[in-house]
Amino acid sequence: MNNRINGIHHITAIAANAQRNYDFYTKVLGLRMVKKTVNFDDPGTYHFYFGNETGTPGTILTFFPWEGIVKGRTGTGMATEIDYSVPAGSLPFWADRFKRSNIVHGQEGERLGELYLPFEDPDGLKLNLVVSKNSDNRRPWTTADVGEQAAAKGFHGITLTLKNIRPTAGILTDVFGYKQTEQEGNRYRFVTDAVEGASIVDLVEAPEMMIGHVAGGTNHHVAFRVQDDNILMEYREKILGRGLNITPKINRDYFFSLYFREPGGVLFELATDNPGFTVDEPLNQLGSALKLPVQHEHLRAKIEQQLPSLQQ
Ligand code: ZN
Repeated sequence: MNNRINGIHHITAIAANAQRNYDFYTKVLGLRMVKKTVNFDDPGTYHFYFGNETGTPGTILTFFPWEGIVKGRTGTGMATEIDYSVPAGSLPFWADRFKRSNIVHGQEGERLGELYLPFEDPDGLKLNLVVSKNSDNRRPWTTADVGEQAAAKGFHGITLTLKNIRPTAGILTDVFGYKQTEQEGNRYRFVTDAVEGASIVDLVEAPEMMIGHVAGGTNHHVAFRVQDDNILMEYREKILGRGLNITPKINRDYFFSLYFREPGGVLFELATDNPGFTVDEPLNQLGSALKLPVQHEHLRAKIEQQLPSLQQ
């Protein structure tokens, strides 16, 4: 029985156009769409999940494509950079691919002893491809264009930008079991040894920066991974014990969730491994059909009419 926080479960961000979002993550970045569903709280909007073959926690980036939503603003109190782990030697391949696909990207750089390539998705969401200095044996999803020598293995970590890192650091170390390992400038790295990959949270302290605005091209929340819903509820008690508000257990069909706002302002979720993405369609068909939660199934005709068409 593993009762730890096993790194990142998924990250959820906001896009302004479903087709553009789908094309970028599946075609340019070469991820698998593992689930096509709707926002359970707003079923007129898609909810896309991109990950590896099975949608293993730690590989899943999800989007609410709210058509035409205004662009958000990067700032404090939000997750500001998503890091994907890629194989050593693959960054030139990616820089060339981004250039040919007209994707906004920077130069290869080094941060905390790791080579990385910064880029933006079509909504301006900030991501990095990082060559981890630690081993990462996770098997990537591959496509005809993006083979095993270059494919993203899943998350490396996430950056949160904060006015003051201390309250958030307290949650990571005292509740989640992370340890602070390194620092570079105003970037403080926290790592868990509970899992290989998706194990890093970087806290960037930026007291002068404006508070961020969560909208198009920004991150909505970060979900951390627990083994099952019994462990989930143990963490609910721990969060309540810190004097923070937290939701009841919510059934997200593919996992069970709790949500709370950590003291630095970032929306955190805790999410379970069970039951996973094969609960309502076979592995070889993940992401191919529109899946609706049972409470919205009776509205299927209306929802399908309302959602923008998507060429897969
Ligand atoms: Zn979530």
